[in-house]
Amino acid sequence: MKLRERANRYNSFFIVDFFVFTFNEHRLTHMTIFTSIFIIALLLSILTQVWLIHRQGSHVATHRHKVPDAFENTVSLKDHQKAADYTIEKNRLGLIELAISSLFLVAMTIGGGINAIAEFWSSFGLAPILTGICIIVSVFLIGYLVDIPLSCYQTFNLEQRFGFNRTTARQYITDQLMQIGLGLLIGVPLLALILWVIESVGSLWWLLAWAILVGFSLIMSWAYPTLIAPLFNRFDPLSDSMLQARIDSLLTRCGFSSNGIFVMDGSRRSGHGNAYFTGMGKSKRIVFFDTLLDSLNNDEIEAVLAHELGHFKHKHVTKMLISSALMSLVGFAILGWLANQGWFYEGLGVHQQSYAIALLLFMMVSPVFTVFMQPLSAFFQRRFEFQADDYAASVAESGALIDALVKLYKENANTLTPDPIYSAFHYSHPPAAIRIANLKKTPGKED
Ligand SMILES: [Zn+2]
Repeated sequence: MKLRERANRYNSFFIVDFFVFTFNEHRLTHMTIFTSIFIIALLLSILTQVWLIHRQGSHVATHRHKVPDAFENTVSLKDHQKAADYTIEKNRLGLIELAISSLFLVAMTIGGGINAIAEFWSSFGLAPILTGICIIVSVFLIGYLVDIPLSCYQTFNLEQRFGFNRTTARQYITDQLMQIGLGLLIGVPLLALILWVIESVGSLWWLLAWAILVGFSLIMSWAYPTLIAPLFNRFDPLSDSMLQARIDSLLTRCGFSSNGIFVMDGSRRSGHGNAYFTGMGKSKRIVFFDTLLDSLNNDEIEAVLAHELGHFKHKHVTKMLISSALMSLVGFAILGWLANQGWFYEGLGVHQQSYAIALLLFMMVSPVFTVFMQPLSAFFQRRFEFQADDYAASVAESGALIDALVKLYKENANTLTPDPIYSAFHYSHPPAAIRIANLKKTPGKED
């Protein structure tokens, strides 16, 4: 950009005109090549995802008529078919979601959306950082609005029909407003800080911006469970005198501080049940959804707790944070280079250059390329689940964990027969049959 400004100033010199001409030609080829790469990658990622969705749908439909042998005695045909129908419908929704997000991406980039938004905000002559924030926030808000119809359909139609939805329209609107409010409250200062660093530091800005983001995710891993999640749900300490003694003895065996177990009122919004481990250091906690707790007996609760403690023992939260920090370091290094390439902006339909626009384009476009790494991250996540299961089997009863898992699958209408390739690509948890076979292999402490 600087080059072009200088060139315009000395426009009368033939030699400069010639130089600008070759420069533009050069940029033009790069730009066309990059546009082509983007379109090809986008098409490949869409085709891959459509193929996977199609595989999943037909695999589940093929196995709909019969409960798999391993679950013959624990899952009824009715429950099995409900799970199949629910999975197939969610699958169809996934296809629509893919179409909408792809159209949005194309409209915003090569369709000229970001360019128009950038031109609009630039016309006010605000400070570069403020202009950048306005551009990025506008694009995110438009994306948010675009997603709302499908999100409403999912909550009030799909989830409703399968008996999972407990959200009222009022609750839904409050949630959405709070999410937008929090997103702006946290996102805008963070963005301002990053853009300020980019503008004021030299060529190594991407390293400092990355460090800020890592610091931010560390703060969030503390703040999310203790400050943010309680804004949306109630978290009560697990209090059941019958259970307490068993849990205390399990915690002592595992070396976990005992104030970290909570029951969340998940039933406020949905009938789906779950349990999870979150946070680091003093903010670490294990959360049971009340919906899950209601359906498990004490043996099963202890086994699920032992599984979550397995995540804690193996430091899975820390490992995930480190690996995502390393991944984003690579991302920022690439961004640091791309931000100075004219063809990166022009190739994605934007005729002005700024670090904010580079950041925005990078955030929007990189999933098109990173989607092919998803099987790898899903693979590691599934390994973590196996490790947590093995740990649970060593400190509690593996049989009880199997029972709990079957209940979890049944009550969430999760399919027992996913397509192997689809699940390898998308599943963060091993498919039920494989997971249970692994638990049966590891003898528990059953006596
Ligand atoms: Zn787990």
